Amino acid sequence: MRVCDFCGQIIDSNQKYCPHCGTRADSGRIISHTKQSQRKLVWLIIPIILLTLLLSTLIYRSYSPSQQQKSALIKVESKNNIQNRGASPH
Ligand SMILES: [Zn+2]
Repeated sequence: MRVCDFCGQIIDSNQKYCPHCGTRADSGRIISHTKQSQRKLVWLIIPIILLTLLLSTLIYRSYSPSQQQKSALIKVESKNNIQNRGASPH
C-alpha cells in the first residue's frame, strides 16, 4: 500500500500510476502497518468525539430552562411579590 504524494489517496502497491490523479505511484511513500492502524483509530475517535459533543449539547439544552419555563418562573415571582405587598401593612 502506498499514499499518493499529490492527492493523498491510497494506491495499490502494484499500480504504477495513481488512479485518482495520474501521478506516478513510485514517488509515493509506503505506509507502514502502524500508520494504517493509527489511521483507523483516528476514524474511530472522530465520530466518538462528535457524538459526545452532540450528546452534551442535547443534555445542556434539556437541562437549561427554555423561554417558556423562564417566563412562567417570572410570573410566579411577580405573583408572590403582589401577595407580599398586599399582606404588608401600610
Ligand atoms: Zn494521486
